[in-house]
Order: sequence, then C-alpha cells, then structure tokens
Amino acid sequence: MYRTHNNGQLRSGDIGTTVTLSGWVQKIRDKGFMVWVDLRDRYGITQLIFDEERTPKEMMETASGLGREFVIQVRGEVIERESKNPNLPTGDVEILVREITVLNSSLTPPFTIEDDTDGGEDLRMKYRYLDIRRSPVRSNLVFRHKVTMAVRNYLSGKDFVEVETPYLIKSTPEGARDFVVPSRMNEGQFYALPQSPQTFKQLLMVGGMDKYFQIVKCFRDEDLRADRQPEFTQIDCEMAFVEQEDVLNTFEGLTKHLLKEINGVTIDSFPRMTYDEAMRRYGNDKPDIRFGMEFGELNEVAQHKDFKVFNSAELVVGIAVPNGNNYSRKEIDKLIDWVKRPQVGALGMVYVRCNDDGTYKSSVDKFYDQEDLAAWAEATGANAGDLICVLSGDAAKTRAQLSALRMELAEQMGLRKPDEFAPLWVVDFPLLEWDEETERYHAMHHPFTSPKPGQMELLKSDPGAVKANAYDLVLNGNEIGGGSIRIHDKEIQSKMFDYLGFTPEEAKAQFGFLMDAFQYGAPPHGGIAFGLDRLVAILGGQETIRDFIAFPKNNAGRDVMIDAPAPIDHEQLDELHLQLNLKS
Ligand code: ASP
Repeated sequence: MYRTHNNGQLRSGDIGTTVTLSGWVQKIRDKGFMVWVDLRDRYGITQLIFDEERTPKEMMETASGLGREFVIQVRGEVIERESKNPNLPTGDVEILVREITVLNSSLTPPFTIEDDTDGGEDLRMKYRYLDIRRSPVRSNLVFRHKVTMAVRNYLSGKDFVEVETPYLIKSTPEGARDFVVPSRMNEGQFYALPQSPQTFKQLLMVGGMDKYFQIVKCFRDEDLRADRQPEFTQIDCEMAFVEQEDVLNTFEGLTKHLLKEINGVTIDSFPRMTYDEAMRRYGNDKPDIRFGMEFGELNEVAQHKDFKVFNSAELVVGIAVPNGNNYSRKEIDKLIDWVKRPQVGALGMVYVRCNDDGTYKSSVDKFYDQEDLAAWAEATGANAGDLICVLSGDAAKTRAQLSALRMELAEQMGLRKPDEFAPLWVVDFPLLEWDEETERYHAMHHPFTSPKPGQMELLKSDPGAVKANAYDLVLNGNEIGGGSIRIHDKEIQSKMFDYLGFTPEEAKAQFGFLMDAFQYGAPPHGGIAFGLDRLVAILGGQETIRDFIAFPKNNAGRDVMIDAPAPIDHEQLDELHLQLNLKS
C-alpha cells in the first residue's frame, strides 16, 4: 500500500500512530545532523524528520540525497512537532521516518513549484504538468470541478437530462469559422467540429427530451484575442414548451444557486435591461453595473455653439469620473493618449473639471460658458470634484470608445471588485446586425432565433429595428450566457434563411435536416448556453480563463506543451486525399 493517509490529513490526535505517506519532495532543509523534508500531494504538506540520533546512517544519507520533486514513500511515527506551524493544517505534527523508498527521481524543475513561482507564463505552459502541482493552479481546477458538480446537481434536480451530441458534424456558418476534419473514407469531404451543439439540442427538443443540458466542448476558429481559447466549454441547455420568461427564471435559478453554493452570496432577483438601454446608459451590451459613471448624452446641450467637432458628430456623450478633478494635467493627458490608442480609436477627448467652488474649467472654454458646462454636468450627473470626459463622433463607435474608457477608469480606481457580484439580464436584442464588410445584415445571435411576436413583417421595411427573443446573462461586465427562443416553424425558418441571404439550395444543403424535423411536430423551444470557463473564472474572483483550464492554448492558439498544431506526414496526407499547397 502506497499510503495510509494523504499529506493534508494528520493532526495532533494521530500522534503515536504509524503511518505510510507518499508524495513529492517540496523542500529539504539539511542541517547535517537533522534533515527536514516537506512532503506534498494534492491534499497538503506534511513535514518529515530524519535525525542522527533516531535515524540509521544510510537513511540519513538517502534523505540528504533527495532532490526537489523526487517522489518518495515513507513509513514512520507521527510525533509532536517542536516548533509548530500554525499556517499549516498538519503543522502540529511531523513524521519521524523509519523507512524510505525513492519511487522516482526528478530533474530539477524549470521553475519553483510554489504559490509565487519564478516561472514565466511560457515556461509554465510548456511544463503545465509541473504548473498543475502548484497549489493556485491545482485549486483552480478543483474549484472548476466544484462548479460543474453544482451545475450538474442543480439541473439534474430540475429534470434536465445530460445528453452527448456529436463532435464530428457538418460545417455550418454560426458567426465564426469552423475547424474542419478531413474524412479519410470520403474523399474530398470534411467534418467540422461544432461551434456549439445548437442544431442538435433543437433536434433533441423535437425528439421530446424536454429539458436538455450538456457540459460540452465547443470549437471556434476565430482570430485570437487575448484570453480566448479555440476550444472552450459551454453549459449548453435547451427546454421545450417555454417562453423567454421561463428560460430566464430557470437559469436565474441556476446562477443564484451557484452564487450561493460557491460564493455564499445571496441575490434576490437579477435586474433586467433592454439592449437599447444598456447601449444608451453604458455604451455596451454587457455593462458592468457594479459602479456608476453612466453615460450622459450631450447633443442637446453641446451642439449649439461654434465647436465644429461636436456639431458634426452624430453623438456627443460623456461620463463623470468621481473625484476626477484630482487628476493632474499630466494624468488627463495620459487618459487622452489612452483613448487615442488604435485599440480604442478616439480622435481626442474633451474634458471638464468640476471645481469644488461650483465653477467649471474645460478644454473647450473658448466655445462654452459656465452655464453650458453646468448643463453638461447635469446630464452626466457630475458633482463638484468630478471630471467629465466627453467623446464624440459616429454613435456606435463613440459609445464603444467611451465604454472602454469607463472600464479602464473603473479598473484604475479599483471599482471592479472581484468579490462583488452584479448579475444582469440584457434582453430584447436586435435580431440582425449590420456587417460593414459584407454590407448586409447577419443574425446577431444565430439564424435560429425567433423575432419578437409580430415583428417578422418589419424585416422588409426596417430590418435593423426588429427585436429578437434573445437574451444575455451578464456578470460583472462579462457575458456569461446567451440564448434565445427559437423558430420552430419550417416556413418561418426558411423565410429567415432567405432573408439572411441563403439561397433555397444552400439552406436545404446546410439545414435541410432541421427544417425537415420541424415538419414532424416541433414543439416551441428555447435555451441558453453559458461559457463555463469564464463563469468559473469570475466566480473564482479572476478574469483569466486560462488559469481555470487544465491544458490551455496560448494566445497564438498553440499548445506549447505537446507542440500543436504540427505538420503531418505525407502518408497521412495521402490517406486523407489531401495535397499541401503551401504559400511559403
Ligand atoms: N448556441 C448558442 C451559442 O453558442 C447559445 C444558445 O442559443 O443557446 O451562443
């Protein structure tokens, strides 16, 4: 038997017993006449002691010869520790070793296996198995397990059934690019990895499963942005015979359960906001509502003077930064540089200092008098001592820029507190979204989303105004879930494809199976999918999803540990009927 106890288990009540422990050597302190070893496993650390007086000589030598991360097994007596360590659950005891077996040696690890390691990100990714030995990474994985168990228990208790859907499916447009898999048996044909099990979960509803969920990998070949993973996990859910209200209530229930169970936080009910309101008040469809700095629109109070920049703008909008009047000129210049960065893209920023004596000092004093600026302060909710930051230009772009500034300022001011949770439903999303590149409308959520009742007609006259039965769940400024009520009528679905620019042939080739199914008694249905990685990170008080994934890809989409993606050899290519046509 390798062990009778784990390394986090022994307490003073065990003193006098003989135990067997196994684990990794975390640390060795060798004083010559005495050697202490910290033995580590997933559960904790137990101190081992070897001493000249009580330990045979060759065992002393074995102890001295141990290196960091050696795997050992020891048998010995639990004794009281002379200098107790109150920071360690096992800190009252140590093991006087009677037998030791070196189960495996170890090279010196490339970074220290400690909470604060000296290893950089790349190195830790390359040796992820060593990184996982560190308690912050390990505890994140255990935390993730706890969250997924809570999800499974909750949904299962509400009659949801976890059903697996296939990974080798057919390429369908769903917003992102598909990862494709060549089929050896079918020359020139390809599977695609699912971007989500969307159509399958709808077919499960047609199949009468009624309530489905799945904790499932999804794959999207998107251009990589920081903290995006090409493969990620969803809690994917679908329900039959539901309206939007039923879905929101069910998954508000799940989210409340998680916040209670995992974080001990009780939230009575989640606020709701329409998409339009979120854009107007926060310039963002996933607003962080833990802090204020709401947008104040200034067109009316700023477009009556000779300031051309504002007069020609579609939108002039500002936020009041609490106590921002403390900022030095230099600090304000830094903010201006920040909004002018290409990633944000503003051309400049107008600001107003709200002095303590009730007067204003702005960067556009040439054009605006105190009365004008007082109206700006009123519109942005600014008080004496605040700083008003104003951006202008194309409405959509300006909102996005000011939203970015709002988030940056909140970050700088420490307003994004990880232990404070502010969920929010954003509802009534537009059905369609204008795409500059292709110059046409695309489904904002996906083509299976149903418009609000009675709005199908608007599609022709004012497509941008059509609202969908689509909703997002936002937590602390992150979209953690999104879903919709689906179309379940063949005619409407084919009209939608037609509207989205699919020819009848294309629609049939790609989604014929779904429309066929709709002809056999498809129930009304709807659902949602949560991004598990992000959800776990936020519940864990962090925002980096990589830290909660056992074997993540780096920012370039590579697994640097196994070195993937990688070329395949010619025989394999031949078998797959593929020929490489490399550009370089
Ligand atoms: N399949 C959708 C997604 O991945 C979620 C849903 O509509 O349920 O975003």
